[in-house]
Amino acid sequence: MNKTVSFVTDNFNKYDGLNIKKYIEIGGFSGLKKLIEKGPDFVISELKETGLRGRGGAAYPTWKKWDMGKKRIAKDKYILCNADEGEPGTFKDRELLDKDPYSVLEGMIIAGITIGSVKGYIYIREEYPNIQDKVAKCIENARNEGVLGESVLGTDYSFDIELYTGAGAYICGEGSALIESMEGKSGRPRNKPPRIGTKGFMQVPTMVNNVETFSYVTAILRYGSEEYANYGTSESKGTKLISLSGNIKNPGMYEVPFGVTFYDVIYTIGGGMKSDSPFKFLQLGGVSGPIMQKYILNTPITYENTSAYGLPIGSGAITVGDETNNVVEFLLGVQKFFVHESCGKCTPCREGNIQLKQLLLKLNDGTITEEEVIRIERISNTMKIASLCGLGQTAPTAILSVIRYFTNDVYKKVGFHVDFDGDLVKHYLE
Ligand code: SF4
Repeated sequence: MNKTVSFVTDNFNKYDGLNIKKYIEIGGFSGLKKLIEKGPDFVISELKETGLRGRGGAAYPTWKKWDMGKKRIAKDKYILCNADEGEPGTFKDRELLDKDPYSVLEGMIIAGITIGSVKGYIYIREEYPNIQDKVAKCIENARNEGVLGESVLGTDYSFDIELYTGAGAYICGEGSALIESMEGKSGRPRNKPPRIGTKGFMQVPTMVNNVETFSYVTAILRYGSEEYANYGTSESKGTKLISLSGNIKNPGMYEVPFGVTFYDVIYTIGGGMKSDSPFKFLQLGGVSGPIMQKYILNTPITYENTSAYGLPIGSGAITVGDETNNVVEFLLGVQKFFVHESCGKCTPCREGNIQLKQLLLKLNDGTITEEEVIRIERISNTMKIASLCGLGQTAPTAILSVIRYFTNDVYKKVGFHVDFDGDLVKHYLE
C-alpha cells in the first residue's frame, strides 16, 4: 500500500490557486457539470457509495446530512463552509484553500444546487489573512466566469458565495457559535434544539460542512465513487488528510489512504523523531483528543480501529512527543489553551477548566494531594456530562488519558499512586 496518495490533493501545484482558466483546463468544475447533467439524487447516491463522513470532527455521514438538507422544506436554505480552522496542530484546510480553493468553492456550489439553496457563506479564521484575500479573489473570478451568480454555467440554477471572517476565537469552529459570530454577536454556542440545520444563520436552515469535506465532494464527483473506493478499507473507504506536527523530522500535511498505521505516518512519512530520543506519545485529533502511548503505533488509522480505542480521527491532527517531552507539561499547555478559549457561557466548562489548570500546576510541581487527583477525575466527568458544547465536553479527554495511562510520569514527583479503574477509584499509597 502506498503510504501517501493524491486524490483530494491531486490539483496541488497544478495551478496557482487563483487562475480559474487553468483550473478549468485541468478538469475544474467537471464535478459541478456532472451534477447539472445527472441531478441532485446522483450526488447523494455517489456520496452514499463512498461512505464519506464529515471531516470537521463529528464524522457524520455526508450523504445523510445532504439528504436531510435536500428534503427539508423551507423558503430559503443556506450552505456554510466552516473554514475556522482553529484546532491546534491542524492546518489542512489552510493548505486546501491555498493550493486548490476552487475545489472548495465548487463543492459549495454542488451542495447548494443539490439541496436547493441559492446562497452560501464561507467563514475563514482571522489568522489566515492571505487565505481570506485569495478566496475573495477566487469568488470574484468565479462570478466573472459565470460559475457563481444568477445562472450557474448558463443553467437555471443560481448560487452565490459571500465571505465572512472570524475574530480569533477557537469556539467559533463550533457551528452555532460561528453563526452567532456571523450575526454580529459574541461567538458563543447556542442552546439546542433547534439545531442549525433547522434554524441557522438568520434563523434560516443552514447546512454546514468544513473545507475538507467540500473538497472531497468535488474530487469524488470529478473522479467518481469507484476511484475513491480504490483507496482505504471496506469500512473506511478513501483517503484522509493528516496534519503531522511535534517532535518529528518531517512535519507537514499529508494525504494518506485509510488503513495506514500510526507507525507509517510517524516513521515512514514523518521520518521518525527529530531528536534521537524514542517516541513517547501522540495526541490525535487536536487538543480535545486523548494522549496515547506507543502501543497505538501499529493501529491502522480507520474509523473502525480508532473508535475501538475511543479515539476520534477528528481533524486528522497528529502531534508527536518523544522521551525528552514531559507529558504533564504538555498537558498543562493544552489546559491553558482551554482556559483561554472557553467562551464562559456555561459553568462546568468555565469553572472546570480553571480548576483543572490549578490542579495540573500542582501535579506538575509535585504538591498535589491524593484527594486532588481524584478531584481531577470528578471535575472532568462533570464537564463531560454537563458542559453545553463540545469544547467543555472534550476538554478533559487529554487529562483523563494521561492520569490513567502515564502513571510513571504523573506520579513520579508526588510520592503516591492513584489507580483509576473504570468508575471505581482505588488508592494506593506507596
Ligand atoms: Fe462556552 Fe465551554 Fe460552555 Fe461551550 S462548554 S458553551 S465553550 S463555556
